[in-house]
Amino acid sequence: MSPRRAPRRPRVGVLAVQGAFAEHAQALSRAGAGVLEVRRADALGDVDGLVIPGGESTTLGLVGGESGLLAAVRSAIDAGLPVFGTCAGLIMLADEVHGGAPPLIGGLGVRVRRNAYGRQRASFEAPVSMPSIGPDPFPGIFIRAPWVEAAGPGVEVLGELGGRIVAARQGAILATAFHPELTADLRIHRVFIDGLRSAGRSREADAEGRTYVRSQ
Ligand code: GLN
Repeated sequence: MSPRRAPRRPRVGVLAVQGAFAEHAQALSRAGAGVLEVRRADALGDVDGLVIPGGESTTLGLVGGESGLLAAVRSAIDAGLPVFGTCAGLIMLADEVHGGAPPLIGGLGVRVRRNAYGRQRASFEAPVSMPSIGPDPFPGIFIRAPWVEAAGPGVEVLGELGGRIVAARQGAILATAFHPELTADLRIHRVFIDGLRSAGRSREADAEGRTYVRSQ
C-alpha cells in the first residue's frame, strides 16, 4: 500500500496590483490557507489558487495589461488554476462587459454591468441568499458593484439579490459582485479553499507530477 499523503495546506495567491488585497489575505489566512501576494507572473507557478480582489477594474486592467500579468493569469486559468474574483475581480473575469469593452482577463461566461446599482445605491449592505453555502444568507457588502446581466449555459448561479445574479461559479472560477473579505463571514473563502484541496489532490495523483501552470 502506498502511504497516504496528509492534505497539504493550500497556498492562495492574491493579485496585489490594486484594491482590497490585504483584506483578502487576512480572510484567507483566517480560513486556513497560506497566502502569497502576487505582483508578477512568475509567482503564479507557486500557488494553488488565485484571488482577484475588488478595486477599480480600469486601473487593474491598465496596470496588469501593460505588465503582461493579466495575460499570464488568463493562461493559468486556461490551464486549470482555480480563481475567485470579487467585485472588480468579477468584472476582470467576465467574458463580456456591458457596453462592449474587451474582456480584461475573461474565462467566466457572463456579461456584467459595471456600477450597476447606480449612484443612489452606490454602496450598501444586503443579505444575499446563497443556498449552496447554508441556510443563513450571506452579508453582502456592495461597493459600486457590478451585477451579472446574462449568464451562459455552463454558469451556476450561487447567489441572487433582487432578481439579479451576484454570485456565480463556472468550473474552477468563482465570483461575487460583493466583498466577502470585508465581513467576518468566511464561508465563501472556505468554499474556495476546500475546492483547492480537492483540486490539489487530483493534481498530486497525476502520475507525471506535472505542474498545471508554468512560470513565465
Ligand atoms: N466599480 C468598480 C469597477 O468598475 C468596482 C468596485 C469594486 O471593486 N468595489 O471596477
